[in-house]
Amino acid sequence: MRVLVVEDDESIAHGLALALRQDDWAVDVAPTLKAAWASLCAEPIDIVLLDLGLPDGDGADLLARLRRAPPGALPDAATPVLIMTARDQVASRIEGLDMGADDYLTKPFDAGELAARMRALRRRFTGRAQARLRWGEIEIDPAAHTVARNGQNVDISAREFSVLMALMEARPRVLSRQQIEASLYNWDRLVESNAVEVHIHRLRKKLGEGVIRTLRGVGYFVPVEPAP
Ligand code: CA
Repeated sequence: MRVLVVEDDESIAHGLALALRQDDWAVDVAPTLKAAWASLCAEPIDIVLLDLGLPDGDGADLLARLRRAPPGALPDAATPVLIMTARDQVASRIEGLDMGADDYLTKPFDAGELAARMRALRRRFTGRAQARLRWGEIEIDPAAHTVARNGQNVDISAREFSVLMALMEARPRVLSRQQIEASLYNWDRLVESNAVEVHIHRLRKKLGEGVIRTLRGVGYFVPVEPAP
């Protein structure tokens, strides 16, 4: 899952990026509105953490522009946005929520609370009310980063977990190898060209062949329901 941190305070941005990477998010940091918009237009982003006071303008303007984006292209107008405000910015929080922010946190906040709110946002965004995700004999716990098959814990790596979550949340849409890669890595990291194939091969060995399907020449998908 990929998060865009829009924050001009270097120490806050750095601290957030560290905490989020620890939690297996792919993190991009944008210190200005201009950089943030460029990121949103370049790659699919799963959540935006948005500071309001930025050197080249108000974060609320970015939010308004995002919500007006035309459908079917990047940026995705429905991308969940969590605004980060100072304690005395009550008016900004109200304005932000009214403009289409999904949640807010007042600085300074706890990394654990942020992680829980981000999971909740993803859940709402993908239309899941349950914290755990069930697919046939597979059960995924996004908070604990664990996967069980027939009630037995499956040993999977952080990268494999990210690939599985990306495909489960996109269900039944097909994701291309590039889209899966984008959810896994930051731009500044080198990706081995066969990394996604390797993760999918290992996931199939651990979860069974029927979960992740290949659409030849297009990409990978998980069916809405398991085959009977
Ligand atoms: Ca700021």
